[in-house]
Amino acid sequence: MTGSLPDTTSAIHAAYLERSRSSAAHYALASKFMPGGTSRQASFWEPYPLTIAKGEGAYFWDVDGHSYLDLINNYTAMIHGHAYPPIVEASHKQIAKGTAWAAANEAQSSLAALIVDRVSSIEQVRFTNSGSEAGALAFTIARIITGRTKLLMARYGYHGSLLEFEIGSFGNEGPLTYLAAYNDLADFEAVLSAHGDDIAAVFLEPVMGASGIIQGEADFLHGVRAAAHKAGALFVLDEVLTLRFGTGGCQSDLDIEPDLTMLGKIIGGGFPVGAVGGSADVLGIFDPADMKVFHTGTFNANPVTMVAGEVSLRELTADRIERMDSLCEMLQSGLMDVANKHGLPFSTNRYGSCLNIYFNESVPESSVVRDDEQVMNDFHLACINHGLFIAHRGLIALSTVIMEKDISEALTRASAAMQDVASEIA
Ligand code: PMP
Repeated sequence: MTGSLPDTTSAIHAAYLERSRSSAAHYALASKFMPGGTSRQASFWEPYPLTIAKGEGAYFWDVDGHSYLDLINNYTAMIHGHAYPPIVEASHKQIAKGTAWAAANEAQSSLAALIVDRVSSIEQVRFTNSGSEAGALAFTIARIITGRTKLLMARYGYHGSLLEFEIGSFGNEGPLTYLAAYNDLADFEAVLSAHGDDIAAVFLEPVMGASGIIQGEADFLHGVRAAAHKAGALFVLDEVLTLRFGTGGCQSDLDIEPDLTMLGKIIGGGFPVGAVGGSADVLGIFDPADMKVFHTGTFNANPVTMVAGEVSLRELTADRIERMDSLCEMLQSGLMDVANKHGLPFSTNRYGSCLNIYFNESVPESSVVRDDEQVMNDFHLACINHGLFIAHRGLIALSTVIMEKDISEALTRASAAMQDVASEIA
């Protein structure tokens, strides 16, 4: 969501161009066949993104041969890093036996049962191929059940790339989209009392991810759920990103029971995935015996994603979550020290194993409305120049294979990058 142009006169920019010639060549080729050379805005940055050749563990390598400590892990999805051996083994075995057919497979029931076991509000699951599709499906379910057409979400919330959600993530309302301020229960109640009759569902993230790792207050989340129900709307909790924060996602810790839960990312073990979970009663609208809505998809619940997802979830234990959280805390305070050393204004939001950084004295309302874009862009490129990979909007998400020594390495590399940024500003 950053948009300012790069400073082409900077030493950081020049060093990036110099070390990424093969990525530049690949970008030129890709741009002939895809608009802007990409199919994914979140993995594009100016002047062009790196092209990655392979990943293993906590590191990946670009086509110019440089290695990077990966601190974003495909925007939180690669919870066990790259080419995690148990996932490689399980998926290889499945690939050798075939990857998809127009009939059932056993692996889908194993993953669904595991999700039901771990996530308290979920009795049944419907699989999709992305979190965005899960959002679209949850909205469809709510529309069918309530007979209403609109949704309410938090301003700057993120629920995937369906237009009705995407405009909200940039802070705009639309014909089907109402917005209210995150952590402001009165604002949600006001919209629901004015427009409740039109609203099929209220969507919330328990921790806002794309907006900058902003924790939802328990009273706010419980209050919005109650207000949604009072208005006759469904309450949908988007745990696509937050399932990594606890074995049962955030809903167990918060003791909150949504009508529907959106899932994605880590439940696919690195393969495309999404899911909507809920009570057997609500999900019953898909039951072919009494079908209220037709939902299908060529690769839904394909066995490769299912076996990989099962390993990914089983291996995400409470101990590992705790270890990632404390390493992330160590990284957070280390980055603050490094920024202070280089005289840069710096602030962070952290929840568990995710961190969003800002080159401001205090964190802004959302990553969408920030005034440190130029410095952030410079820092992002400078990190790359020093072999450290973070999201260009400053998001960091650890994986279970990152060790304490990697955190020290990350701080050394971040310090070198901040030194470059500080010289640029001076
Ligand atoms: N909801 C949330 C909270 C997300 O973080 C994301 C992905 N960043 C999505 C939905 C959409 O998932 P996908 O990218 O798989 O479509």
